Amino acid sequence: MKTGIATVSIAGDFATKLGAIAAAGFDGIEIFEQDFLASDLSPRAAGQMVRDHGLEVLLFQPFRDFEGLPAPLRARAFTRARRKFALMNELGTDLMLICSSVHPQALGGIDRAADDLAELGAIAAEYGVRVGYEALAWGRHVDDHRDAWEIVRRADHPHIGLILDSYHTLARGIDPESIRRIPGEKIFFVQLADAPAIRMDLLYLSRHFRSMPGEGDLDVPAFMRAVMATGYDGPLSLEVFNDQFRAGLPRLVALDGHRALINLMDGLRRAAPELSVDLPAMPAPAPVERVEFIEFVTSPGEAPRIEALLQSLGFRLTGQHVSKSVRRFQQNGVNILINTEQQGYAHAAFLSHGTCVSEIAVVVPDARQTFARGKALLAEPFGDGPNPGELDIPALRGVGGSLLRLLDDHSDLAHLWEVDFTPLAPADTGAGLMAVDHISQTMPFDEMLSWTQFYTAIFKGHKAPMVDVADPEGLVRSQAVKSGALRVTLNGAEARRTLATRFLADSFGAATQHIAFACEDIFATARILSDKGFAVLPIGANYYDDLDARYDLPAELLERLKAGHILFDQDEDGQFFQLYSRPFGDGLFIEIIQRTGRYDGYGAPNAPFRIAAQARLGTPVTIPKR
Ligand code: MG
Ligand code: MG
Repeated sequence: MKTGIATVSIAGDFATKLGAIAAAGFDGIEIFEQDFLASDLSPRAAGQMVRDHGLEVLLFQPFRDFEGLPAPLRARAFTRARRKFALMNELGTDLMLICSSVHPQALGGIDRAADDLAELGAIAAEYGVRVGYEALAWGRHVDDHRDAWEIVRRADHPHIGLILDSYHTLARGIDPESIRRIPGEKIFFVQLADAPAIRMDLLYLSRHFRSMPGEGDLDVPAFMRAVMATGYDGPLSLEVFNDQFRAGLPRLVALDGHRALINLMDGLRRAAPELSVDLPAMPAPAPVERVEFIEFVTSPGEAPRIEALLQSLGFRLTGQHVSKSVRRFQQNGVNILINTEQQGYAHAAFLSHGTCVSEIAVVVPDARQTFARGKALLAEPFGDGPNPGELDIPALRGVGGSLLRLLDDHSDLAHLWEVDFTPLAPADTGAGLMAVDHISQTMPFDEMLSWTQFYTAIFKGHKAPMVDVADPEGLVRSQAVKSGALRVTLNGAEARRTLATRFLADSFGAATQHIAFACEDIFATARILSDKGFAVLPIGANYYDDLDARYDLPAELLERLKAGHILFDQDEDGQFFQLYSRPFGDGLFIEIIQRTGRYDGYGAPNAPFRIAAQARLGTPVTIPKR
């Protein structure tokens, strides 16, 4: 399986694009003519530069408005094609993409288009190149791959074939099963892209919102299953137009793209074992069984304040690391580590982010298998070399350079607490916090798709639809991903002055912003917290008036919510209660929640009130770096 990506998908000049694409491990590129034209390189030099990066030019594109033209436009289209065939010879590529015409004077008719392509096939043969015909979803006369295939079939020329693009087929709602009837050898090239399920003009959606397979809502796997069933074994190439990607970090976008292809093909192999997918073996995705610990790194000076906060939340100091300045705080099944090391990874994390979440450890069925899957999906492994006698816990680099540790209950890794920690006191029930419900991570918007893919590719899980959260200073987009017991909400901050953006500036990049703990009786927990001196985030009275108007809650319940500064949400599945700590560190905070029934959300309607309440406390305003 050769993999490729269109140069238009990546930001930067031609050389930057090639560097990023090569580093991500692709085999080749679709050279987007504009990118070459803007480069000032001769065709030969451009082709050589591609090959010097260890890449192949898999496709030259796009050639527009060719078929169905009346004279004299028709003759001019053929002359133009000859010029581009000669250019392709110099670039060193033998395949051109022609997309279906949008020319206002183009005439319809399957046979007219087939005759034009057959004639072009003879010319292409002279130049030793081939032509693939693609139906644009907004083509003037041809907007469906079934019609494009009929034209190619009637053209009946060995140098004329079909190009399929998952976007054009799926965004128009065409059943991909219809692809199965096409002979694989007549499919010259396959382009892949996903897109969100937003109702808008297909051209506009395509130009601005295409995403990597798995990042949107189209059924790209079903499309690929049908393509593979034809016997197609040519390149799989990403053609993704997206405003974020075009402004994003070239290497990150290229890496995400390659990961998306690997994950797509791995999923296909598992769903349809009869298809021969040419991909190295990798372990299957597994769900997270629980979050075992969350580690904060801080300075020895700031540690007492954070430990006091933990104690006000009902946590008890129960252990001390055998060789490091790491203290274990516990209640029920929840473990929080406070790391004040002055060297190594944790200290580096503190120096670059300040007080932050430096590690999240999750329990999976087999930690080393999940680690191997992460590496196969291009996640960065991390090794910090344990001291002799301590456990070597596999870890992947996560959001903002933090670590995602992988543990299991079935290997030596199950003995973490006995091996690496000296017990100080037994755990107790504390304030009734039972588990980590979710972890909220904030990042620039362009990183959000990337981390969504990281979690959903490595672990067995799914993502919820993206929601918009209204910060008083602008919009924050929120994407929840869930794998078994792990729930992560990823917040993409775009506007310059939102609380999320300020958090990014203060924490120097993407990081965990809040952790939510689940309890079983939020009123009982709130009482204990209040006894322990926990400082709750005060919520204004207007919120409760509005709540009353929206839900017609019993007066007594409303009173208890108001007294406890507890926020409320409900849907057809159940109810949701939440309360927040005041911010600490550089804007971190703690949330405590209770879910009833099958409520599966995160209280998104309450976020503006929470953000406004935090803003009233006067989080320092700093100018974001980006
Ligand atoms: Mg295309
Ligand atoms: Mg939350």
